[in-house]
Amino acid sequence: MRETALKGALVQVPLLDLKTQYKTYKREVVRAINEVSESQSFILGPAVAELEERIAKYCDSKYAIGVSSGTDALLVSLMALEIGLGDEVITTPFTFFATAGCIARVGATPVFVDVDADSYNIDVRRIEEKITAKTQAIMPVHLFGQAAQMKPIMEIARLHNLAVIEDAAQAMGASRDGVKCGNFGVCGCFSFYPSKNLGSFGDGGLVTTNSRALADKIKILRDHGQNPRYFYKIIGGNFRLDAVQAAVLTVKLKHLDKWNEKRRQNAALYDYLFADSPVRGPKIDSNNVSIYHQYTITVPKRDQLQKFLTENQIGSAIFYPKPLHLQECFKGLGYREGNLPVAEKLSREVLSLPIYPELTEEQIEYVGRTVLKFYGLD
Ligand SMILES: *Cc1c(COP(=O)(O)O)cnc(C)c1O
Repeated sequence: MRETALKGALVQVPLLDLKTQYKTYKREVVRAINEVSESQSFILGPAVAELEERIAKYCDSKYAIGVSSGTDALLVSLMALEIGLGDEVITTPFTFFATAGCIARVGATPVFVDVDADSYNIDVRRIEEKITAKTQAIMPVHLFGQAAQMKPIMEIARLHNLAVIEDAAQAMGASRDGVKCGNFGVCGCFSFYPSKNLGSFGDGGLVTTNSRALADKIKILRDHGQNPRYFYKIIGGNFRLDAVQAAVLTVKLKHLDKWNEKRRQNAALYDYLFADSPVRGPKIDSNNVSIYHQYTITVPKRDQLQKFLTENQIGSAIFYPKPLHLQECFKGLGYREGNLPVAEKLSREVLSLPIYPELTEEQIEYVGRTVLKFYGLD
């Protein structure tokens, strides 16, 4: 282990530290879980209904439907919109696998559009050239907590009569032009995976929508398509959220804005430290409020830098090391290296640094200085 110059203290900085955060809301959450235990009511029920009401309010959406994961939020949305065999859905290759995996799982074809190098989000200038008679929807991702360029995306969708399903798994609380993520398209899909800004104690997810008809259909689909009980007009699945997760999330939701604000402050300190260096921080479009799910830099000699950070007790991660159009499972789609050059370049240059709310200034400075030191700049 290495001593740092800062106060001579040993600074270790993990990529994420959920235990430190847990201590700050432990009492509340233990009480909430205990209430669920006492009720012995575990699936859907009042705890889930309460969470749905609170999140709908938080997201400025009319409806919120709790589901089993972010992946299932995407899947059930596609099912509800009856997107399937023979359809095409336009999306980004620079995202977590589930975005495109769900499109393929319903039998549709993901059509990848390259990303913008500054925002890491889908490049809106390249969407229209990929629209065909089979295109049914656009699935933008608000990557790393920054909203995609939703104004032009919605305009393109309107012109071509396409549905927009937002993969907002990394963006609960983020907004663009004053509109919260999850409210631009026909629905927004969120994840409560523990490492997300609002994370549960297991898997969980949620769909927001302003369409009553879609909300009703998703509620039916998440419970096998039954309505009324044991009568099935459509085929759904088990996409239910459980009461323990809902109780945990209701407690944590109260803290979310404060945590997201802390992430923004942490990001501002990194931005300051990396100014005038070869380290490019995330560029946040004006009118965007990012929730910094990740603080992702693009750098030369990325792999060597990561090794150097590891040696200095600093956690980091590569989101994502291989763009989806080049994944083996999508070989049949016929993409080749060089087809989507920006996503491919980013996959070689990105590195996500610790940004979680409980980081101390000392830790951020240590991370920043260690990065700069690698480039001979401290
Ligand atoms: C986390 C994530 C998902 C999947 O969410 P799970 O809850 O893990 O199923 C989907 N899309 C993106 C962009 C994500 O980051």
